Amino acid sequence: DQPVLEIRDLHVDYGFDDDPTHVLRGVDLTLHRGEVLGIAGESGCGKSTLAYAATRLLPPPGLITGGEVFLTDRDGTRRDILRLSDAELRSARWRDVAIVFQGAMNSLNPVYRVGRQIADAITAHRPGTRRKEAWDRAAELLELVGISADRVRDYPHQLSGGMRQRVMIAMALALEPQVLFMDEPTTALDVVMQRQILEQITELRERLGFSVVFITHDVSLLVEIADRIAIMYAGEIVEQASASDVYRRPRHPYAHGLLGSFPPLHGPRRELTGIPGSPPDLATLPPGCPFAQRCPHVMDVCRVERPVLAPTALGEPGRQVACHLHDQPGHLPVTLAG
Ligand code: SF4
Ligand code: MG
Repeated sequence: DQPVLEIRDLHVDYGFDDDPTHVLRGVDLTLHRGEVLGIAGESGCGKSTLAYAATRLLPPPGLITGGEVFLTDRDGTRRDILRLSDAELRSARWRDVAIVFQGAMNSLNPVYRVGRQIADAITAHRPGTRRKEAWDRAAELLELVGISADRVRDYPHQLSGGMRQRVMIAMALALEPQVLFMDEPTTALDVVMQRQILEQITELRERLGFSVVFITHDVSLLVEIADRIAIMYAGEIVEQASASDVYRRPRHPYAHGLLGSFPPLHGPRRELTGIPGSPPDLATLPPGCPFAQRCPHVMDVCRVERPVLAPTALGEPGRQVACHLHDQPGHLPVTLAG
């Protein structure tokens, strides 16, 4: 089965001068149909940049300097969305890919009823839709995201923050996307609200048949909702595997540290260790592994040779890691083995 989205060797630079900062340094990601792919990493690792670049919504001074983003339609047509014309892009963006970002709820227009704003999204997506039909659909979409249909005539200020963020999700679903990017969509909300929204998204994805790229700094959320998890560090993916493999046996030392930084939602408590140090300055990245300065397992080779994302020497199905420890299984430190 053809993956719905394939990101290949994506590069993004920031800056107009001749000394730009490389914020995405060759990202490869595959999203299968119907799957929830989680992307986790500390702030500044390039997660949001990845979402905006892959949807071609990257604001200046961000610039895509290389790579491909293939999107496969439900009818099997495969296109590189980085190479669509502006006209093609306008229609494709609204037809296939939608994005809900952190704080999206603040972009609702305060002077219009939420039903009208969803109805406008519906008519933009399907011109010629009757007004009454669009409003009815808006009410249905509100129900889908857990808001009573009679709130369709409410103004944004009459809804709680959690409800407004759900309205934004309803608007994204109005576009009948194949791929829904969610960039920290629930970060501003309390834990109970986050949990409810996440459960709804996973349920809707099954009912409506879209795929999700879910971006967060909180890897413990992903363990709950994602099928697969990709861990980002310094503008690249350093590990990707099934959610349970990443959770139970993270292979990359950074993934290991990140999992140790959040309390697990279920199961035995782990000691929260955190990761000493801070991410490298991307403008002055030394050669070799970008995690070398913080890595408890650093070796000589790590400071000269940049590790590439590849299957591990253990040959675990579906797992890829960018770390020299995994070139030879004998090197695995006890904490990362098992
Ligand atoms: Fe640590 Fe070396 Fe692996 Fe980088 S390549 S994560 S420095 S062991
Ligand atoms: Mg971000």
